[in-house]
Amino acid sequence: MAANLPDAFVHTKLLIDGEWRDSSDGRKIRVIDPATEEIFGSVAHATLGDLDEALAATETGAFAWVAIPLPERSKIIRKAGETLRARAATIAPLLTREQGKPLAEALLEVNSSADFIEWFAEEARRTYGKVIPSRWPHVRQLLIKEPVGPVATFTPWNFPIVAIVRKLAAALAAGCPVIVKGPEETPASVAEVARAFVDAGVPRGVVNLVYGDPAEISRYLISHPVIRKISFTGSTSVGKQLAGLAGLHMKRVTMELGGHAPVIVTEDADIKNAVSTLAQIKFRNAGQICIAPTRFLIHETVFERFLKGFVQAAQAIKVGNGFDASTQMGPLANERRIPALAEFVADAVSKGADLRAGGHRIGNKGYFFEPTVLAHVPLSARVMNEEPFGPLAIINPYSDLDDAIAEANRLPYGLASYAHTKSLATAHELASRIEAGMLTINHNGLSFPEVSFGGVKDSGYGSEGGPDAMEPYLSSRFVTMA
Ligand code: NAD
Repeated sequence: MAANLPDAFVHTKLLIDGEWRDSSDGRKIRVIDPATEEIFGSVAHATLGDLDEALAATETGAFAWVAIPLPERSKIIRKAGETLRARAATIAPLLTREQGKPLAEALLEVNSSADFIEWFAEEARRTYGKVIPSRWPHVRQLLIKEPVGPVATFTPWNFPIVAIVRKLAAALAAGCPVIVKGPEETPASVAEVARAFVDAGVPRGVVNLVYGDPAEISRYLISHPVIRKISFTGSTSVGKQLAGLAGLHMKRVTMELGGHAPVIVTEDADIKNAVSTLAQIKFRNAGQICIAPTRFLIHETVFERFLKGFVQAAQAIKVGNGFDASTQMGPLANERRIPALAEFVADAVSKGADLRAGGHRIGNKGYFFEPTVLAHVPLSARVMNEEPFGPLAIINPYSDLDDAIAEANRLPYGLASYAHTKSLATAHELASRIEAGMLTINHNGLSFPEVSFGGVKDSGYGSEGGPDAMEPYLSSRFVTMA
């Protein structure tokens, strides 16, 4: 396979025990530019022998990392964030080339990832335990927080940098070494995250990066006794398989899985603000966002106004190559998302939905898809039940808030949710009745280091930000002394 690859591409190696190297059998996977369909590069495909070496490295890395005094470790993590930020102008084009997102969005992802790293550098200094009051005057009772041990992370191609950083920086802040299984579709930008940590002074073996066959790697690492904790971001179906395997081997797990975010817009909402903020988040990253708003439930009295505005916003979006400065939405990240989206649209239309914007592939070179709006979509349509993971919005009217809440809670997903209302009473009601890990009202307020990020129900468990973000990487030891 490697012989067919053109010369001028980026080849990404594995990082094992501080060395950047090819896989032990030389196997590689091609990397495609989704805007041009050109082969952009390749990535090394790890063997089980390579994984064994990474596992051995994390064991020694675990000791090396906690041997560094905590303030020093915090400084190293901070420096990795600063390094990533300083290199943003060279990393963002790699991300655009292999993932497709507009360069401005790629820059934002790199810079916000640096924010996450710097925030976790501070959290590293605050892994407080507790002193538990004793029932006996001569007894001291201590609850001590310790690193859980070597972590294996699995992350996808949609936000390749920030998805890894959320896990890697938290694990390192807690004192855990990591094997990162990076996304094979977008390996080069991800490797720059690992490089930033290495260059900042993380000892060898503490950060390891592998690519290859996701199912083979996850099976091997999750069941291996060296790994103590798993963190996965991806689809609910794969997450359930991995959580099952982790359960079998009694491994701690964080699962950030799929969503099908409901949006409730009430009759008193600021419709102009609702249209512009929701269109912005819906079509960001070509809709390939687990927290993307999907099922829009609009009060019947403002339905036509909202729909008209949203269709106009969708049709005004300039779709193109992410390197074109005027591009607002890039291609889908991989070829398989085109038939997936086209089938959702065809199925919904065949069941009576009204296709109000888009619905088709653009051209036949590059994985471009039109910003799409479907209205009056029946519950029987597949897209009302499965995550579209693309630039597709479903807009339906409601007349009674209880019905809208019931529809919002109908699916097994519970990741993000959105609402627009001017009524404080309605805002409180939604905050207590919507079954979701996150609710943002009247603005797009999700996904910052200091706020919680995670789901309930089939969307997973564990938070990857905010006050609880370190907890999944820490275990508790109780010591009592008389
Ligand atoms: P997919 O389910 O095949 O893969 C999703 C991700 O999981 C990929 O990164 C893949 O490499 C990884 N993966 C797949 N099988 C695995 C295994 N056995 N062990 C470890 N990792 C494994 O789907 P896809 O076509 O790549 O993406 C489309 C679907 O994935 C979407 O419908 C969406 O639901 C989901 N997805 C979710 C997120 C998210 O942020 N939650 C991100 C990307 C994809």
